[in-house]
Amino acid sequence: TLEAGVVAVQGDVSEHADAIRRAAANHGEEAVVREVRHSGVVPECDLLLLPGGESTAISRLLEREGIDEEIVAHVEADKPVLATCAGLIVASRDARDERVETLDLVDATVDRNAFGRQKDSFEAPLDVEGLAEPFPAVFIRAPLIAAVGDDVDVLATWEERPVAIRDGPVVGTSFHPELTADARLHDLAFFENAEAVL
Ligand code: GLN
Repeated sequence: TLEAGVVAVQGDVSEHADAIRRAAANHGEEAVVREVRHSGVVPECDLLLLPGGESTAISRLLEREGIDEEIVAHVEADKPVLATCAGLIVASRDARDERVETLDLVDATVDRNAFGRQKDSFEAPLDVEGLAEPFPAVFIRAPLIAAVGDDVDVLATWEERPVAIRDGPVVGTSFHPELTADARLHDLAFFENAEAVL
């Protein structure tokens, strides 16, 4: 049985939990999902999900509860993380916003709410490296990935900008992979290199 932690500050948790369970089942595994609201849970987790929401609020809670350092240790131990939307903002090296204490898990600079200013939210079929068919990507006030370091793999772009990236054990998306009945992104982040988890 795998222990999967989902940072649970705001909404979005049950959709991610379902996607994680489905992705695990594809590999003949059972995932037990733990909601992360306090310190002490992350160190027991094999994999971790940083969901969307409001990055300033998420950042504040992680720091207040001392979860931030546990997440950094999780990544230093080379355990997988999927960080989506606001989660990616928190996971970035720099979010160009002093209200967000970034964790520097991925070597990327992001701009909050700067992606697709014309339309706040939209859905688009995305070609993602490692997936055979396009992924239905839902963008909601998504962060723009402005710059990535040399060691970062860009897994998908939209209008020539990176929207899915990988840096070691961390996959980050500016969109919300939990909002469609498609667990391939969770599968890619957590089980593609299954031996790292199992
Ligand atoms: N705009 C949000 C932020 O800056 C992120 C949006 C989302 O997670 N859907 O934190």
